[in-house]
Amino acid sequence: MHQTIHKNLIGGEWVEGPSAAENINPSDLSDVVGLYARGDACQTEQAIEAAQAARPVWAVWTAEHRADALDRIGTELLARAEELGDLLSREEGKTRPEGIGEVIRAGRIFKFFAGESLRLNGELIPPIRQGVEVEVSREPEGVVGIITPWNFPIAIPAWKIAPALAYGNTVVFKPADLVPGSAWALAEIIHRAGQLPAGAFNLVMGPGSQVGHSLVNARQVRAVSFTGSADTGARIGLSCMQRGAKVQLEMGGKNPLVILDDAHLDTAVSVAIQGSFYSTGQRCTGSSRLIVQSGIYPRFIAAMKERMAALRIDDARQPGTDIGPVASSAQFEQDLMYIHLAYEEGGQIAAGGEVLQRATRGFYLSPALITETDNTMRINREEVFGPVASVIRVRDYDEALHVANDTAFGLSSGICTTSLRHATDFKRRSAAGMVMVNVPTAGVDYHAPFGGRKGSSHGAREQGSYAREFYTAVKTCYTAAG
Ligand code: NDP
Repeated sequence: MHQTIHKNLIGGEWVEGPSAAENINPSDLSDVVGLYARGDACQTEQAIEAAQAARPVWAVWTAEHRADALDRIGTELLARAEELGDLLSREEGKTRPEGIGEVIRAGRIFKFFAGESLRLNGELIPPIRQGVEVEVSREPEGVVGIITPWNFPIAIPAWKIAPALAYGNTVVFKPADLVPGSAWALAEIIHRAGQLPAGAFNLVMGPGSQVGHSLVNARQVRAVSFTGSADTGARIGLSCMQRGAKVQLEMGGKNPLVILDDAHLDTAVSVAIQGSFYSTGQRCTGSSRLIVQSGIYPRFIAAMKERMAALRIDDARQPGTDIGPVASSAQFEQDLMYIHLAYEEGGQIAAGGEVLQRATRGFYLSPALITETDNTMRINREEVFGPVASVIRVRDYDEALHVANDTAFGLSSGICTTSLRHATDFKRRSAAGMVMVNVPTAGVDYHAPFGGRKGSSHGAREQGSYAREFYTAVKTCYTAAG
């Protein structure tokens, strides 16, 4: 049967790629979501040229015009949240309500940055020298390369593209090869509803080894924003630094959730289940290390097992599903490998970790809770990126804090406690970019800064008004009367 190919957007035109690939539904491997172009290095260069050529045209759009464009994009995303959320759920495997929520978030992000484009204020600094005026202003960086992962196929692109455009940059966007559907739909809306000048926004779908690589190494791309794995991030960071381009990296996490004896048990269990297993555990902010004080430990484990047994793991789009399938066969294999490894290292599979059969063939895995682990095991050092949580038993708060901070990562951290003293101390001393008290480590607001420390992030924060640090270049001007 003939299928329409979803094309790349280069210089305002939809163009076929040198090849195309099927986008497969992980809930039902016989379901082809669509056929999507796969670009190469040559197409990426064309997109970069188009973005470079569009710079002066985009630069003369007033802040109000840019705000209106972003607002129209946000309005359409919100109006089509059900339809696009369903597409997201079908291609990525998170549940339909999670998919719809993600599209709403993307719409809200565009509306937030519509307002931000009107708020790009400069500063006048009191002069040191008599009669010399000191002005600080912000300018667009130029052509921005945006490279995104598969786990949030519309929200992550939105939180990079919206500020890039709001502050006057032109964009070449390369989405994850695994899930091009939501990215293509977003690009189509940006192009049509945004009515941007040709080349201000370009989409090149295709493999990271070609499209991503070309984007990272192109002289004209002045800034690269990346979210994905630590290994790829490190390589991209080096390449950008070598050629003097600005780079922002959002990478992995090994996020701790501390549960103290004085925690409210129901709250702690809800926070752990939500943070560890929802969105199939495929979140960089997911709670993968549950650090539990010995007094509450037996009650917490028993309650976790009970709640986990009631979770419904099924087709992502089926009403009532709590947890959809794993997104891909590679991720499925990685999850199973880590569960096996944890067992070999001495961990006990207290619940889940089983491959499940459902009405359709898909990557179904029951969330795994692994007990009897310590913080030196690989299961507690490396990012799994699946519905897998390991438990580390600790004596007291001080040990919990030490274990929580003993990691190469530092994205998000959490604590469940009713003690103001411990909550306050944890907020101060946790070595993470985002700290949660009695709320899940995953799940953040779109208008607040997002990012981590150590191996989790590099460069300026994303989201909220902090996004301007990455997407603008600061200029300081000194003027004296001539
Ligand atoms: P990657 O880091 O490989 O991919 C992220 C993005 O970078 C994708 O768009 C990818 O393209 C692109 N990319 C890959 N190689 C290059 C390159 N050489 N130059 C430029 N861009 C490149 O992550 P994966 O999607 O392959 O996932 C692998 C693992 O990464 C997961 O199992 C998980 O552990 C972790 N991960 C972490 C995320 C986080 O938010 N912390 C998000 C996603 C993954 P393409 O899709 O074509 O490969």
